[in-house]
Amino acid sequence: MFAVTILGNNSALPTLERHPTAQIITCNDQLILVDCGEGTQLQFARYKIKSSRLRYIFISHLHGDHYFGLIGLLNSLNLLGRKEPLTIFAPPELEAIIQLQMQCSGTIFQFELQFVPLLEENQGLILSDKDLNVSFFPTIHRIPCYGFIFEMQKRKRKLLPEQAKVYEIPAAYYSKLQEGADYQRKDGFLVKNDWVTLPPPREKKYVFYADTAYSEELVRFAHNADLVYHETTYLHALAERAAERFHSTTVQAATLALKAHAHRLIVGHFSSKYTDLTCFEEECREIFPNSDVATEGATFII
Ligand SMILES: [Zn+2]
Repeated sequence: MFAVTILGNNSALPTLERHPTAQIITCNDQLILVDCGEGTQLQFARYKIKSSRLRYIFISHLHGDHYFGLIGLLNSLNLLGRKEPLTIFAPPELEAIIQLQMQCSGTIFQFELQFVPLLEENQGLILSDKDLNVSFFPTIHRIPCYGFIFEMQKRKRKLLPEQAKVYEIPAAYYSKLQEGADYQRKDGFLVKNDWVTLPPPREKKYVFYADTAYSEELVRFAHNADLVYHETTYLHALAERAAERFHSTTVQAATLALKAHAHRLIVGHFSSKYTDLTCFEEECREIFPNSDVATEGATFII
């Protein structure tokens, strides 16, 4: 299972209908939180996200709409009795912010909280877990801001059951074949693994672009991605304002997805001035047909 669930799709100014940026990535049995705008823990409850399965948190940058929900979420995890460690990947200043909040309230978490600083000079691979690789890259924003590339490796080889039958391999052995083992028959005949399996399917790739102005330079990160999230704070008509504020428009996000040969695009981080989001979808689809609004509560399989 590799999927992303949208918890918030709005930009900085709060609205009653939408929440600031937060997304949950499900990678098999682990959950990863990407950005943690105000109220994210309530969105966990609303969409029945099991916070106990949370393993990593990635914070793109320190504009409040991307992390103001963090101290509340961490406090609640502590109150819920969390014991498992939690790792936060974020700009380095976040550690001091969280520690000050804990100090002033005399809070000591009962779980280990580890911070891994995101620094532009170290861009690239930052996490390699049992089935997931995560890389980060700088975007173009008013303060240091980072996008993330999540790649899930399918480790099991693809079984060809018809072939396995031809060589009289018992079904009970199929899982070993998927792990790459050969099969020795009772008559001494050795069945080579690659006669009955194919290599694992290629990695699935999800790219989260955080907040950014549009740039051709950024296209390469989404190359061949299965799913791309790009911000569209504004519709095309406000392209000038988008550039001034280091944000992007529908046309820019869709152009990036098209140039990158991505498979699917979802867009979010909408300015609070918009109440109807259908125009975002329409403008994107004119350029990149496989575009959708990142609706809160929606889950996109990667
Ligand atoms: Zn921002």
